[in-house]
Amino acid sequence: MSNKEDLKHVVCEAIDRHADMIIDLGETILRNPETGFNEVRTAALVAERMKAVGLTPRTGLALTGVKGRLSGRTLGPRLAFIGELDSLRTSEHPLADPVTGAAHSCGHNAQIAGMLGAAIGLTDAEISPHLSGEIVFFAVPAEEFIDVEERCARVAKGEIEFMLGKPELVAKGHFDDIDMAMMIHTGSRDGAKTRAVLAESSNGALVKRIRFIGRAAHAGSLPQLGVNALSAAMIAMNAIAAQRETFWEKDTIRIHPIITKGGDAVSVVPAEVTMETFVRGGSLEAIVDANKKVDRCLRAGAIAMGAEVEIHTIPGYLPQRNDRQMGEIFGANVEALFGPGEFHIGGHRTGSTDMGDLAHIMPVIHPYVVGAEGKAHGADWRINEPRHGYLTPAKLLAMTAIDLLYGDAAPAKEILARFEPAMTKESYLAFQRGLFRKERHVCADE
Ligand SMILES: [Zn+2]
Ligand SMILES: [Zn+2]
Repeated sequence: MSNKEDLKHVVCEAIDRHADMIIDLGETILRNPETGFNEVRTAALVAERMKAVGLTPRTGLALTGVKGRLSGRTLGPRLAFIGELDSLRTSEHPLADPVTGAAHSCGHNAQIAGMLGAAIGLTDAEISPHLSGEIVFFAVPAEEFIDVEERCARVAKGEIEFMLGKPELVAKGHFDDIDMAMMIHTGSRDGAKTRAVLAESSNGALVKRIRFIGRAAHAGSLPQLGVNALSAAMIAMNAIAAQRETFWEKDTIRIHPIITKGGDAVSVVPAEVTMETFVRGGSLEAIVDANKKVDRCLRAGAIAMGAEVEIHTIPGYLPQRNDRQMGEIFGANVEALFGPGEFHIGGHRTGSTDMGDLAHIMPVIHPYVVGAEGKAHGADWRINEPRHGYLTPAKLLAMTAIDLLYGDAAPAKEILARFEPAMTKESYLAFQRGLFRKERHVCADE
């Protein structure tokens, strides 16, 4: 039997032989961005490519998810490679869809190319007879929590229960046949000190949809008879801003509301104003505490103007916790490709990912590999090194799978034996379901 390092060499060569095709895949998705739970064409492309390498994909998982499996020589740990299907909306991005503003300004197109690139390399090089267990190639919907209103409508129609892809897949049982998971997020070279990094942790978040209800009236001749919902929203936002000095630095709270509807017509006192916001923080306790303050501020805006406010609180992301041992195995492969010192573990990220949800029930890693420049979620985000954006993740996924599953898969079994889940699937789902809350405060004078 070939040794592990030979296998890695062979799979990397196979990925390089298919470089043009893998890069083209990533660029095709880049030019056809689709937002969460709407990733129909992207999902079809994934299924077609999985079939082309001999996998038998299951489709339509949590609406658009696609899952294919590659079996080793015996049963054993089931390791998922995750790629996120969805784009963001960043209408200023040069490649944004001119109608919807959808744009891959977070680089998820590269995740799909990397995940499929690993499938192409591992199947072409016929690696699986050397492994135990399974590699599960999993394209998942909706990592970005956007379009809150659209997703609430999907929930109301019973299409989904949770508004993010991974929680919804967990709830529907699509992670029941997976033991551990990894994915690679594209990183920007701006500010990066090494080719790859694995944060210790990242923020979790609650998501809020807010509706202020006032009373319409002629804005010029009868404002005295109106109730200005926009003023109520502005007072609430100023009150939220005033809370910021009350947050502890260690809790890394981030609150960033947007107004999704500011009024109907400039000559009408705004009778309905809608907002969305995240309440992010480094721990569940910190998020819950900040959320109480936000609710207080929202009510304050309504009270001040004699308006009403509806507050809809929705589970978002749990804080991320990366598995150290998996991370170190991954990091050794980064250093094998790029040299010593090109990987580090550390720090806390103030963004959020629903890999954090999975991390509460199974070992996961969510490292970043530099292949882009500019600001994540910004108009200047661009994959400027296609080889590292699309091919390097494919290689690192495949190499790490070989380390974990080679022979009798001893390293993967050891990680699973040691792992202590923070929650069971059932307690996770019960916790998430307990976060949903809808309340209406009537603050009008008698
Ligand atoms: Zn993002
Ligand atoms: Zn992302």
